[in-house]
Amino acid sequence: MARDVEGDSGRAESVSARSPEFVAALMGAVRGEVKAGASLARHSTYRIGGSATIFTPASAADLSAGVQAASAAGIPLFVVGLGSNVLFPDAGLDALVVRMGKGLDAVRHEADRWWLGAGLPAPHAARKTAQQGWAGLHMMVGVPGTVGGGVFMNAGCHGGQWADVVEQVTVVNAQGAARTLSKGEIPFSYRRSGLDGAIVVEVEVRLREGNREELDREVERLFEWRQRGTPFNQPCCGSVFKNPEGPAPAGWNRPWTAGSVIEEAGLKGTAEGAVIVSPMHANYFVNTGGATAAEVRALIARARETVRERIGVVLETEVKVIGRFGEYVTIR
Ligand SMILES: Cc1cc2nc3c(=O)[nH]c(=O)nc-3n(C[C@H](O)[C@H](O)[C@H](O)COP(=O)(O)OP(=O)(O)OC[C@H]3O[C@@H](n4cnc5c(N)ncnc54)[C@H](O)[C@@H]3O)c2cc1C
Repeated sequence: MARDVEGDSGRAESVSARSPEFVAALMGAVRGEVKAGASLARHSTYRIGGSATIFTPASAADLSAGVQAASAAGIPLFVVGLGSNVLFPDAGLDALVVRMGKGLDAVRHEADRWWLGAGLPAPHAARKTAQQGWAGLHMMVGVPGTVGGGVFMNAGCHGGQWADVVEQVTVVNAQGAARTLSKGEIPFSYRRSGLDGAIVVEVEVRLREGNREELDREVERLFEWRQRGTPFNQPCCGSVFKNPEGPAPAGWNRPWTAGSVIEEAGLKGTAEGAVIVSPMHANYFVNTGGATAAEVRALIARARETVRERIGVVLETEVKVIGRFGEYVTIR
């Protein structure tokens, strides 16, 4: 494969997972699904994104084989779960998209220890553990990602987060080698695991014994709350920004959250093209139909700047804005 260097990123322009030679080589090396020219919009809750080669491994061994094939060809990777926290580019990706789903979604448990495949949807993990009388993941019923995406993002809600229950995480590195990390080796912080560059394959969590009926009721209550309080069923990525750090300024008499701050800056209902700051919850930006990544990026930049001017706080994005080679893009 030719290796023309792109601008200042130093990346080879023509190294692409879209190349027919690479797609054929990958298909020969792995089991699972390899789809060339697949729509990323179908793999993002924003329903936004161009096309890419998407590989859904059939097993952990196939994941490693696919990662090795990409590494040997000099092709970067981008791992996606349920795409509930990513904004893909309109032009699609030249990185190989590794989709964690069926084949990597097994569940087993012994007493309070549960082993969860990274491709398992977190709401399934929440319901399944609660139904069997185990507490600690039940609050994730309204976080529409995978187990792997949840751990990578250290997702959380209602006072719980993945870091509270994780014991061990098995990861595959960029060369396809597997390794198990104990919780002490993972630098979890607010909406961050520090697992950059690693693919989460399986997670061991330790849960608390609880009352089955009470947990079931709690799961339903939290799920209803989600549906009532957020534009849950509309195309969006959940919270666009992380909550601001530090104490609220003197005289601030509302929750010191990104949603309140954006609302206070008068941004509810503000639109860029077909994307709008939700009138229901200001930290949710909703694709009202046919929105582009460029429009979402413009709205993020506008909201960030308006909040800085009017409230004096600089918000940091929670959504991962993805560049053409799978890199994270910072919006200023
Ligand atoms: C309606 C709605 C409500 C939401 N509510 C919440 C909430 O209450 N709390 C909260 O924290 N989040 C919330 N989110 C955001 C999102 O659901 C979480 O961040 C979720 O954990 C992302 O999981 P995912 O599988 O969709 O990850 P993706 O969006 O697919 O990916 C997110 C990031 O994780 C990485 N990643 C995904 N899987 C893996 C893996 N196996 N190994 C390594 N890296 C991986 C990706 O590369 C990317 O950088 C919400 C989103 C929506 C749409």
